[in-house]
Amino acid sequence: MTDKTLIYSHLDCLQHDPGYGHPENPLRLQAILDSISDFEPAPLGNDQLVLLAHTAEMLEQIKAIAPIENLAQIDADTFMSAGSLQAAYRGVGAACKAIDQLIAGQRQHIFCATRPPGHHATSNQAMGFCLFNHIAIAALYAQQTYDIDRIAIVDFDVHHGNGTQDIVKAKKGLFYLSTHQSPFYPGTGSETENMPDNILNIPLSAGTGHSAYQKVFIEQVIPAINDFKPQLLLVSAGFDAHHKDPLASFDFSDLTYEWLGEQLNTIAKAFCQSRMLSVLEGGYNLEALTSSMQAYLAGIDKAI
Ligand SMILES: [Zn+2]
Repeated sequence: MTDKTLIYSHLDCLQHDPGYGHPENPLRLQAILDSISDFEPAPLGNDQLVLLAHTAEMLEQIKAIAPIENLAQIDADTFMSAGSLQAAYRGVGAACKAIDQLIAGQRQHIFCATRPPGHHATSNQAMGFCLFNHIAIAALYAQQTYDIDRIAIVDFDVHHGNGTQDIVKAKKGLFYLSTHQSPFYPGTGSETENMPDNILNIPLSAGTGHSAYQKVFIEQVIPAINDFKPQLLLVSAGFDAHHKDPLASFDFSDLTYEWLGEQLNTIAKAFCQSRMLSVLEGGYNLEALTSSMQAYLAGIDKAI
């Protein structure tokens, strides 16, 4: 296990249960916790932090729908159980506490192993397994608390982070870059979508594997980040582009994630005083989820 990465998680994040047979189930995080030696308990976030990225109406709706028992349904595949709200607040708290520690120079890379995921949650709508958009909240928290001029969010989850795009697109000083399978859920992130300069979508066809992805990353992702010169690097780390993943059709291996970790941390070292935060998004094959996360963390350790 890496000693360079601090991992935030919380047993409360096992209490979000979207129902029998749901791919985003507590076993995902249990598998991760079983595969790591230790983690720091994530603090609870609060409404003030949630409201950095989401509307008051949305927050009130989520609180109103949150069940005391059984399930509440938000959309076709997004559910809340009695423990969901607390789990989501842990995700918010973890991401913001991580920002504090990175800015204070106490850590260089922090990984938030929290769930539910966040990158599909828009400013006014929970969706796609996601309640609060932790990565966007972290970016806005860092911007407003620490007056950082340029923050990049790189999203390598196989799905487009429509929620992060929605929240970031109107914000100065934030840059959102996503590589994702397209056409695919949630239907956004195509080349024809008209987006401002601080959004870069790189849609890729089903079947994209290690070599093709490396080429795209070297030719498009790295130059775009180099141009932006971020002072802080945030990563939406989804592991559902793995060839074993049941939801998507990319062909990544553990090696791809190791390589990604090395590349991203090299960028963080070059521009961001090594300050890099990764937040767990997707990844639905338990074996691939843990092996690719370990490979990613090992790659981060390799960066020079
Ligand atoms: Zn995903």
